[in-house]
Amino acid sequence: MPELPEVETVRRAIAPVLEGARLESVGIRDPRLVRPFDPAIVPVAPVGGRVGEVGRRGKYLIVGFESGRSLLIHLRMTGSLRHAPSGTLADDPYTRAVLRLDNGSDVGYRDVRRFGTWELFEPDELAPYLAARLGPEPLGPFSAARLGKRLDGRRAPLKSALLDQRTVAGLGNIYVDEALWRSRLHPLRVAGSLDRDELGALYRAVRTVLRKGIERQGSTLRDYAMPDGAYGTMQDEFRAYGRGGEPCDRCGRPLTRIVVGGRTTTFCEHCQTLPR
Ligand SMILES: [Zn+2]
Repeated sequence: MPELPEVETVRRAIAPVLEGARLESVGIRDPRLVRPFDPAIVPVAPVGGRVGEVGRRGKYLIVGFESGRSLLIHLRMTGSLRHAPSGTLADDPYTRAVLRLDNGSDVGYRDVRRFGTWELFEPDELAPYLAARLGPEPLGPFSAARLGKRLDGRRAPLKSALLDQRTVAGLGNIYVDEALWRSRLHPLRVAGSLDRDELGALYRAVRTVLRKGIERQGSTLRDYAMPDGAYGTMQDEFRAYGRGGEPCDRCGRPLTRIVVGGRTTTFCEHCQTLPR
């Protein structure tokens, strides 16, 4: 599923299209997108409204309106946004919603597996909603010490703790495997057991892999694509994710695949060892 770098890439591409535009219509083709609300009611609010800032928090895209309301979009497994500058989106059975803008262009929301969500928030509702669900932004004001505080006392495997959005916002299976490989930490380490050096290495690795992911415009797996249909190339940089059985780029021995908390996890048993 899209993680922080993929969502940030989408945000950077779609922000210049949406910011300052007025919504002429919002067509929700799939009621499941906005459930439990009635799609006939939900989209009424932003129509006619002008888009302010398009932001991101963790894996959420935030379309802010000048009215102070916000549309919170989560792409989940297979959601993506498509932009048709001349208002002619390709006919696509997986299009779940279409925003028509006053500049004549359409922004479509495509989602094959339909787990993505759109939610509309009143001005004072969004901040508490996000604060309850998300830890700090890893590329924002963040530090190794702060990461240590989030992991302190936790008995869960490190991999699971990092997938928990309340620890750090925006990480998923790809970037956690990559960050653990880079920092030479075993995915089954007790999350609260890292010493200061290990926390420093993990902190740097998390930021490095996310920055690299953004630079490469995300990783293209299954249905992720940018709004103009282009693809990212971070998959060419993977050192661990999805490479079970392939040689480790550091030691040459084959990478191991295990399941941690229900998630496939790839790491190097020789470079990422558990303390005795
Ligand atoms: Zn290795």
